[in-house]
Amino acid sequence: SKGAIHKEQLDELACTSYPPCMKEIHNSLRRNHHLRYGARRQYGQFLKEAGLPMEEQLQFLKEEFTKKIDSDKFDRQYGYDIRYIYGKEGRRAEMSGMACATIILKSQPGPLDCHGCPFAHMETALLTQRLKNCDISDVEVENIVGFSKTRQYDRACTRYFEAVHKMEDGALGQMITHPNQYLKLSQEIYA
Ligand code: SF4
Repeated sequence: SKGAIHKEQLDELACTSYPPCMKEIHNSLRRNHHLRYGARRQYGQFLKEAGLPMEEQLQFLKEEFTKKIDSDKFDRQYGYDIRYIYGKEGRRAEMSGMACATIILKSQPGPLDCHGCPFAHMETALLTQRLKNCDISDVEVENIVGFSKTRQYDRACTRYFEAVHKMEDGALGQMITHPNQYLKLSQEIYA
């Protein structure tokens, strides 16, 4: 069964165990105190599937957003979408985390967005810069960027996972196809 996670853990998890797509959104939220719709959906569904309780997701976003807007405005404009993800509004079906294929093919980010898949949607120069910030050797950064350029996003992400967890090439023994799979595998390593 799924273990719960709590909002106080998110900064650390983002650092150690998030795939690049969710790390990008998390850091953007911390930096800008705001997320646009696509990012709220992609990150919100991920956090729900990871076991973050609804009230904690509401508080987590509210704490950041209310650095720029007042509390009433947050409740009016953003509360509904978060409750919707947990099946408490609208069609009342709980949502699961989006798979990589959905993020890559059906959630194309615009120029102001921070969601999507960095391997598929980020400019090569920025992707390279982000990877170099992750304590990955230059050779590995080149390998990963190479997979990204040839549109082998699953291989790029799998190799990234192995590199940041100091594993040999191929040691994971499976391909990353879902951000929640990535998180779970990483949490198992550090458990
Ligand atoms: Fe996220 Fe999947 Fe892209 Fe990895 S391949 S960064 S898990 S969307």
